[in-house]
Amino acid sequence: MEVLDSSAFIHGYDSDEQAASIPAVQSELTGETALRFDAEQGAGMHIHVPGEGAVGRVRRAADETGDLETLSDTDLRLLAAAFELDATLVTDDYAMQNVAERLDVRVRVIARDGIDEQRDWQFQCAGCGRTFDENHDRCPICGSDLSRKNPA
Ligand SMILES: [Zn+2]
Repeated sequence: MEVLDSSAFIHGYDSDEQAASIPAVQSELTGETALRFDAEQGAGMHIHVPGEGAVGRVRRAADETGDLETLSDTDLRLLAAAFELDATLVTDDYAMQNVAERLDVRVRVIARDGIDEQRDWQFQCAGCGRTFDENHDRCPICGSDLSRKNPA
């Protein structure tokens, strides 16, 4: 099971693992990312309300690592949910990763750079020169080979 934080929804994180999140994340999301949360929930995402005991334990761990000031209430609750569910926490937040390590909670880091890079790739046709956002085996227009190029 994977506990998803807000950044997971913002980056459109997707995996085959059973997803879980907490009500506080839902209320932080707006627009398209809120719809993504609803879609995940519709697809069977587990909504977990962590117990106060677990939240207190996370708070103490965050105090020990010096991250308590940095973490929001939602962050603490996400950590508590991952702790209680024995789940992997999916986040790109460094302070949360730090506290998760202290609690022996597994973390999957969302590689923000990796995702952005992937999104920025374009594929250019060697024949007609058209560029495409998605890779194809062959140019759908003229059938020539495509090569990857970075528009930046
Ligand atoms: Zn072409």
